[in-house]
Amino acid sequence: MSRILIDIGHGFYCGSQNEERFDPGAVNQAAVSEFSLNVVSAIALQQRLQSLGQFAAFCPYGLSRFDRGLAAAGYDCFISVHHNAAGKPIKQQYVRVLHNKNSHTAQDRILAERVAEAIANILTITNFDAEPANLEVLRAARKTNVKASILTEAFFIDQGLSEAQMRIMARNAGYAIAQAVHEYFYFGG
Ligand SMILES: [Zn+2]
Repeated sequence: MSRILIDIGHGFYCGSQNEERFDPGAVNQAAVSEFSLNVVSAIALQQRLQSLGQFAAFCPYGLSRFDRGLAAAGYDCFISVHHNAAGKPIKQQYVRVLHNKNSHTAQDRILAERVAEAIANILTITNFDAEPANLEVLRAARKTNVKASILTEAFFIDQGLSEAQMRIMARNAGYAIAQAVHEYFYFGG
């Protein structure tokens, strides 16, 4: 059994004055927030991982981005679940899965590639492939002994899809991420 920590991107966090703040992430023209879809996807991800015999938990509530990454200590895998927004029409929907720019091992990139492929297949959208990025949450996860850490952006929420369609897509993306992560660890990375 592998231990997987899931960060539901955005949501509640602790401000600099110790006050509780809420970050909805991107919000589309129909007022659907990225956070609401991240929740749908992350719950599907956790449920599917558990049904596959893995241990999957959510990041503790209210942490900063950096502390969410540090919470990966003691886990095998860290996954920050997000969705994308372009702010303008794009030619086609595509998947992005990010891994830390300065990773010392190839593990993050390999997992990111497999997860990107799984999401693209289940949603039948373009695979933009794994991409290195300099993100606070992934930098922090890299400071722990976690074996692989990635950030998923399954699809764009501002391209005219209905909320019902996007919720189904977010759930399916969560299942696909779970399947790819399970196979990655089950077959030894
Ligand atoms: Zn986000």
